[in-house]
Amino acid sequence: MKYSPVQNYINGKFVDASGNRKLDVISPLDGNLLSTVPMSSSKDLDNAVKAAKTAFRVWSRTPIKERVQVFFRYKSLLEKHLKELSELVQEENGKTYTEATAEVEKSIELTEFACSLPQLVTGEILEVSRGVECRTEHVPLGVVSSIVPFNFPSMVPNWTLPNAIALGNCMIMKPSEKVPLSCGRLAELLKEAGLPDGVFNIVHGDVEIVDAICDHPGIEAVSFVGSTKVAKLVYQRATQHYKRCLALGGAKNHLMVLPDAIPGMTAQNVAASMSGCAGQRCMAASAMIGVGNVDKIIDKICEEARKIIPGENLGAVINKASQERIEKYITEAEQQGAKILVDGRNTKVNGKEKGTYVGPTVIDHVTPGMAVATEEIFGPVISIMRTNTVDEALAIENANPYGNAASVFTQNGGMARYIIEHANAGMIGVNIGVPVPREPFSFGGWNESKFGVGDITGKSSIEFWTKLKKSTTKWNPEAGVNWMS
Ligand code: NAD
Repeated sequence: MKYSPVQNYINGKFVDASGNRKLDVISPLDGNLLSTVPMSSSKDLDNAVKAAKTAFRVWSRTPIKERVQVFFRYKSLLEKHLKELSELVQEENGKTYTEATAEVEKSIELTEFACSLPQLVTGEILEVSRGVECRTEHVPLGVVSSIVPFNFPSMVPNWTLPNAIALGNCMIMKPSEKVPLSCGRLAELLKEAGLPDGVFNIVHGDVEIVDAICDHPGIEAVSFVGSTKVAKLVYQRATQHYKRCLALGGAKNHLMVLPDAIPGMTAQNVAASMSGCAGQRCMAASAMIGVGNVDKIIDKICEEARKIIPGENLGAVINKASQERIEKYITEAEQQGAKILVDGRNTKVNGKEKGTYVGPTVIDHVTPGMAVATEEIFGPVISIMRTNTVDEALAIENANPYGNAASVFTQNGGMARYIIEHANAGMIGVNIGVPVPREPFSFGGWNESKFGVGDITGKSSIEFWTKLKKSTTKWNPEAGVNWMS
């Protein structure tokens, strides 16, 4: 085992969980055992909430300009340790080193945004009648929680922790049990940056601990990122306890390719979007709709896909179950009459035979009823459908229950605008395969890709992590009563 067993992080210290239940942490790159992760109980959560509540008394009263100083230092530490953090992400998640570095760089950008929060939460003040002032302030909620998935062990925790904590909350993070290592390292860097003990805590586990988070009376808000199935469960359970909840779910993102799209650029973007992070991105292109004759572009997409080599510029998928699930989708599509133009099944990487790899896969002549057309595959696979018109393409896109992202490839500005207006998704790209909005713009899908109000990052997250206090004051005793008094 390469690393010592993972521990919880409570009140500034790494501590063992109370029970004995543990899972192995396996590297998808080569199948090697990296560590073990404890499955914590509600007793461990109680300890974390207690520590966070105590820390909140001082942290919430620390001026925001002081609080963000921690994040200026944390940002420098992320930069200083970029290589080491990227290697850890790569090891536990299986993505390539380049992708892991991009993920840590995104964590740095997210922290940079948190450092700017004092400029954005100034509140408002107005003299509403003679000598009477109304003022609004953003006030932290208390102890909040963030439950995160396996596909971005560094970036997704950093979607929530810098903003929530800079805004004055104390946090309990629940990492994915598949990738629990990076988060512990972030906790160490936060401590080195000067974050007081108890402000950030980590409790590892699975369903039991997620349920306990939703039920815990000491936790005010729950943010969740993961599959739609679990997002729904978490949203229902947390709101049943009258907690604020924002739960981001899965996705099935469509790229619409029009005949006037620039072939080379389009093919590169489609191939990169479907295969980046081995297709394990909620923003990955999973379905493509060719409008009219786009055969030449499809040929180029296949050319690009063949340049993607597992173990070199394509990472592993998270585990064997995932590898088998993805391969089953491809086989079923083939049996139903789709044509596999590039086949990523049965991929082995020399010297890493226990790694879990699926090669880039291009499936053509998919019909809208097939599972590869409607379900999230979460692997390096693109399912190509054909239509004659843009409206038919939009109808397919809009019929899917998710609504994370959609993109169009065209040189026609009017057509691009039409698709922006009519696509039923939260994030739209024009000639961009992965249309992630960058800070200060916020990240968030629609429909079954997100439950709750507002977005998880950027300016929109301020509303989620704070409540608004409205005060009305009068300092002119000579003024008489008015209708409000
Ligand atoms: P997941 O839903 O299996 O797990 C997410 C978290 O929930 C983990 O911490 C896990 O321990 C916990 N969990 C798992 N099953 C649970 C259950 N039954 N009850 C309570 N908690 C449970 O997701 P994953 O496989 O880790 O991540 C991949 C999914 O996340 C994909 O669907 C992907 O699209 C989605 N995702 C979405 C976004 C977004 O922004 N919308 C971003 C990243 C990932």
